[in-house]
Amino acid sequence: VVAKLNLDRIIGKHQDFPKPGILFRDINPVFRNPDALKFIASEFSRKFSKTRYDATAGIESRGFVVATAVGMKAGKGVIMIRKVGKLPGPTIKKSYDIEYGNATMELQTDAVKKGQRVLIVDDLIATGGTAVAAAQLVEELGGKVAGFGFVIELAGLKGADRLRQMGYRVESLVV
Ligand code: 5GP
Repeated sequence: VVAKLNLDRIIGKHQDFPKPGILFRDINPVFRNPDALKFIASEFSRKFSKTRYDATAGIESRGFVVATAVGMKAGKGVIMIRKVGKLPGPTIKKSYDIEYGNATMELQTDAVKKGQRVLIVDDLIATGGTAVAAAQLVEELGGKVAGFGFVIELAGLKGADRLRQMGYRVESLVV
């Protein structure tokens, strides 16, 4: 049993990073804390205990740490959804708008099998653009998104609401 832990107190907050006006939530202190890492894994395993899934997908790069913690606890492997240009072999890509300009995520075509159920995790959801692109990649390969897990949800930006409106199950640990 993992003791209840106040993640919000461990998350770093940096005003004006990476640009003026932005309050950046820093998950690094959480990852450095072994009890916090265990807590993340056990909270997601509890929240998704009735959800069937075959693999955990992490979104580069902080999502990889979350996906590994959750995947190991659940006895599942980890799929990497990466920024474009880093994965070898056949891949598919998805571009999406970010605040200034756009970004592209990539997934290996053999990473997801038809009908495979994938739990997608990341450190934080803001507008939800990244998460939607990740879901599209999984679905384009014939996979099913079993749900989304975020350590931090910035509720004011409505990204999680957007995912729920699209019919996805979303769980966040700190809102
Ligand atoms: P979205 O696509 O939902 O607008 O942005 C979410 C993505 O941007 C996530 O991959 C997340 O890691 C990153 N991100 C945006 N704002 C922050 C922040 O304040 N802190 C951290 N750690 N990541 C952020």
